[in-house]
Amino acid sequence: MDTNALFTQALGMVNPWRVMDLQFDADAKQLTIRVDFAPGSTFPCPSCGAPCKVHDASRQRWRHLNFFEYLTFIEARQPRTRCETHGVKTITVPWARTGADFTLLCEAMIVELGRNGLTPTAIGRIVGEHDTRIWRVLSHDVDEARGRATFAGVEKVGVDETSRAKGHVYVTLFADLVKARVLFVTEGKDHETMSRFKQDLVAHGGDPSQVSEFSLDMSQAFITGLRQKFPQAHLTFDKFHVIKLMNEAVDTVRRQEQKTEPDLKKSRYVWLKNEANLKPRERAQFDALKDSTLGTARAYRIKTTLQALYDQSPEGAPTLFRLWYFWATHSRLPAVVKVAKTLKQHLAGVLRWFDSRINNGLLEGLNSLVQAAKARARGFRSARKMIVVIYLLLSKLDFRLPKALPSAIHTK
Ligand SMILES: [Zn+2]
Repeated sequence: MDTNALFTQALGMVNPWRVMDLQFDADAKQLTIRVDFAPGSTFPCPSCGAPCKVHDASRQRWRHLNFFEYLTFIEARQPRTRCETHGVKTITVPWARTGADFTLLCEAMIVELGRNGLTPTAIGRIVGEHDTRIWRVLSHDVDEARGRATFAGVEKVGVDETSRAKGHVYVTLFADLVKARVLFVTEGKDHETMSRFKQDLVAHGGDPSQVSEFSLDMSQAFITGLRQKFPQAHLTFDKFHVIKLMNEAVDTVRRQEQKTEPDLKKSRYVWLKNEANLKPRERAQFDALKDSTLGTARAYRIKTTLQALYDQSPEGAPTLFRLWYFWATHSRLPAVVKVAKTLKQHLAGVLRWFDSRINNGLLEGLNSLVQAAKARARGFRSARKMIVVIYLLLSKLDFRLPKALPSAIHTK
């Protein structure tokens, strides 16, 4: 078998396409594979499939997978046919999408590296291309794969915001809590984000009236948006956010009190950690202070009782909450009183957990992956880039790119 025939096979070229010649440029470390169709070939019309003669052809060049250390390109004449019925049409070559700079296999590798968490800059170094071209491929393929994604049957959704950059730059994530995938990401964290989610859900075959449960923090903008756009859905206020609010109140009490109580110095984590995780020094301080009359110790006991609420039966929980509320609001600790009032105001959503049993633990996990990607990329320069990366990593998209790499072509 001669080299051209070998490459024809290795590239999976089928009639009428074949490799004409190979040009190695040792100095530039480049391999150009020239491909052409046999003279007199016909191609099926893209509209009706009728065999058509070639009308004209233009020379194109696609970046392919590296051949060992050689940057590899495929060069070919891309034909246009003339159909009796449909006129002049561009023929899509079998190895690349129309208009693409990369072959399908090269695109598949870029997407695969991206899904494995490599930044576009790192992928660009491997492929030998500028990262703007890598971004273009990722962005295009994510859009296309999302276009095929179906949200039919989505019933339980978690909503959370995450920061894109320092300052108040946010994106809001919507996740399918059953299939553990990000459905939608959008800029901002106002009530409009809910209306954009609803539109996107419908565009992907989802039924807003079937979404019966949302998990969220007590953000007024989210609540307002969901009440308007998903009026039939139940809202569950995420228990991690509830406990976080209470932890913040304990910390506020401690910060004020330690100005006059030296025993509280260096006790911050003593009150924020779970008891089982205390180190020996913290344990000693905790044992000495936990039953004291200090405001911080009282706030702490109020917190652990609130945590215990989540161990109650659905029938017992409202009663315990009433007792807890009385205690908290009579604590004379303003930060604690404030949290108690916030929870009372949102009580239906707090207690909804006893029926829905949903929380934003999944979103916390997804969010930590987003923040890790952000750190690798040293920040995202635009919301669009952040959104592309989130979809790439966390949406379980089907990219429908070729998987098998021809045996003669290596990616290293
Ligand atoms: Zn036709």
